[in-house]
Amino acid sequence: MYDLAVVGAGPAGSRFARRAAESGHDVVVLEKGSVGTPLACSGHVSTDVWEFVPEDARDELFQNRVYGARFHVGGPGSRSYPFYKEEEEVSNVIDRVGLDLTLADCARDADADLREGHTVVGVDERADRVVLEVSVADGDTERVEARMVAGCDGPTSRVRRAVGLDEPDELLHGVLAFDEDPDDGDFVDVHLTAPGFFAWRIPRGDAGVEYGLAAPPGDDVSALFDRLTDAYDVTTDRFCSGAIPIGPADSVTTDRVFLIGDAAAQTKPFTGGGIRYGMTAADVAARTIDPTDPSTLADYEAGWRDALATEIRLGKAIRACYSLPEPVQHVGLWALSGEIGVHMDEPTSFFSREHLRRLFS
Ligand SMILES: Cc1cc2nc3c(=O)[nH]c(=O)nc-3n(C[C@H](O)[C@H](O)[C@H](O)COP(=O)(O)OP(=O)(O)OC[C@H]3O[C@@H](n4cnc5c(N)ncnc54)[C@H](O)[C@@H]3O)c2cc1C
Repeated sequence: MYDLAVVGAGPAGSRFARRAAESGHDVVVLEKGSVGTPLACSGHVSTDVWEFVPEDARDELFQNRVYGARFHVGGPGSRSYPFYKEEEEVSNVIDRVGLDLTLADCARDADADLREGHTVVGVDERADRVVLEVSVADGDTERVEARMVAGCDGPTSRVRRAVGLDEPDELLHGVLAFDEDPDDGDFVDVHLTAPGFFAWRIPRGDAGVEYGLAAPPGDDVSALFDRLTDAYDVTTDRFCSGAIPIGPADSVTTDRVFLIGDAAAQTKPFTGGGIRYGMTAADVAARTIDPTDPSTLADYEAGWRDALATEIRLGKAIRACYSLPEPVQHVGLWALSGEIGVHMDEPTSFFSREHLRRLFS
């Protein structure tokens, strides 16, 4: 029996597996496909991401440096309101497939047993262990037993459903695609034209330009996407689509199962970004959870909320502004735009003394 079975080798699962294995636990990671595929992510992250990857992998993963965002209430031709930093980058654009492969290598190097092509199809939580039913190639099934299971299986988590944990408040539908023309521009463009969320244009250096958007299910994201790329007058390829969970449930733990990352809706409600929050929560989990002691799951639950709950609450308030009437959006963006002192993952930094001084000076 393993100490810990991790379902899913995305950023949250691989990061947790690495940290747990480094702490001396016997860890197996079950990944249904090949690590990093299919892609459904922009890989637009704060520079904090580099704290989670080995130094020698950084050059390979890096694509572009971003110094700010131009917000538009309308499409590409409409007035823009820039938010930027003069002297340091706000964020980086990275190779997201490469990130997943790098994090998975780190988990393997720490002696986690990471198996691709292993789909978890059943979760049986018992008094002293969890038994996983795993589908492998050729329709065969295997049983894997562990003292505890980490559900890191993404926004539509099967583990979450199997153990009866509540679903996130919302699942947005995100889409993106690429234009091959290189662009090492300093700004991403954000268009408040998608209902309840936004559309974007991200310069990715030699990897081209990415166009994308997210919206609540039911809105025709394909039609909205066509409208965006028509307005930019571009043709895109490699269309990708994925779900973005917003709003974590009150509990992401049972007696022997816990969720990390998108499975736990540990995302930024105002951007849908979850790479950094998921890995932060993974580190909290690895620090607090002892697989021989189920009571430690309460420490994880309290620990990740200490680290992220206030940011998520404030992030929801920012997102509410995307649905304000257009004239109010114009006034708000005009009033707040300019040089900023905020951290893109931390809405609380908006209220820092430094940023408030800058805003009102
Ligand atoms: C269009 C779009 C753009 C985005 N852009 C950004 C961005 O720019 N920046 C950012 O920070 N975030 C972004 N995100 C969000 C980001 O992709 C997620 O927050 C992040 O991938 C979550 O990591 P995770 O490890 O929790 O889950 P995932 O990355 O979804 O990994 C889950 C893994 O579990 C595996 N799995 C699922 N079910 C099973 C099963 N039954 N058995 C075994 N394995 C299973 C999957 O194959 C997958 O490898 C974006 C999302 C979308 C949809």
